[in-house]
Amino acid sequence: MSDTTDCLFCKIIRREIPATIIHEDERVLAFADINPQAPVHVLVVPKRHIASLNDLAAGDDGLVGELVRRAAAIAAARGIAAGGYRTVFNCNRDAGQTVFHVHLHLLGGRRMTWPPG
Ligand code: 5GP
Ligand code: ZN
Repeated sequence: MSDTTDCLFCKIIRREIPATIIHEDERVLAFADINPQAPVHVLVVPKRHIASLNDLAAGDDGLVGELVRRAAAIAAARGIAAGGYRTVFNCNRDAGQTVFHVHLHLLGGRRMTWPPG
């Protein structure tokens, strides 16, 4: 079995698991986090399976830009762009990554604290 068969976010991309889809295009899917940590908590993912930031290649630079710009566009659409929001990529154990398919968290709608836990 390939990584994509078992991967939770690949299953969401293939519509094998339901999710509240917020945006879809050729390369990117955005959907609501199932356990939101803020009034706005959206995950922006590449449709192609990439396990973590450590697995990005030079050829993925454009894709990463699309993830970040999509998060900014969703923040604007949700009315939190001017007030502010946080974007986070967790990578591996020490950052608490639990799903090994690259995802950008978009968090907003409340005041964030710093440093993060
Ligand atoms: P990580 O900890 O890997 O950075 O973030 C994984 C995120 O995926 C968590 O915020 C978690 O709530 C979310 N998540 C886990 N399982 C599901 C699911 O089945 N559906 C959705 N929409 N989000 C999920
Ligand atoms: Zn995947």
